[in-house]
Amino acid sequence: MSNDTRRSGSCLCGGVQFSVAGDPLRIGLCHCKDCRKAGGSTFSAFAVWPIEAFETTGIVNSYGDRSFCPTCGGRVTLVGKTEVEVPIGSLDEVPTEGLEPSYELWTNRREHWLQPLPDAQQFEHDRDAPPNDDEVHHDQAADAA
Ligand SMILES: [Zn+2]
Ligand SMILES: [Zn+2]
Repeated sequence: MSNDTRRSGSCLCGGVQFSVAGDPLRIGLCHCKDCRKAGGSTFSAFAVWPIEAFETTGIVNSYGDRSFCPTCGGRVTLVGKTEVEVPIGSLDEVPTEGLEPSYELWTNRREHWLQPLPDAQQFEHDRDAPPNDDEVHHDQAADAA
């Protein structure tokens, strides 16, 4: 996918719109407690872009750095200092192109009826030694395992 690609996303009611430009830095799946509780599903699929690639309109509420639409409750983005994490399901194009997860987090919490993604790196907890201290998506609950 070329670097001038711009992907758009929105919440369920459409009150929050956003877009991300270019290729993501990384794409993952997460089975952590925070992702389960925040999303209500048994895991989350997300892609991470540099914050400069991100634009948004509309009003959001947030819990920690996870934002959601106050009208419909739809989850949108998780905004860190240098990165933004986008739930793949909030993107408008379905199925998405070029956003296949390359790693899985908190695999010890994966449901038994789910299989590991065949080519994805597996982490029992957060990623080992993330290269960037500001990396979004650290599980807040250290005792979650
Ligand atoms: Zn909404
Ligand atoms: Zn998670």
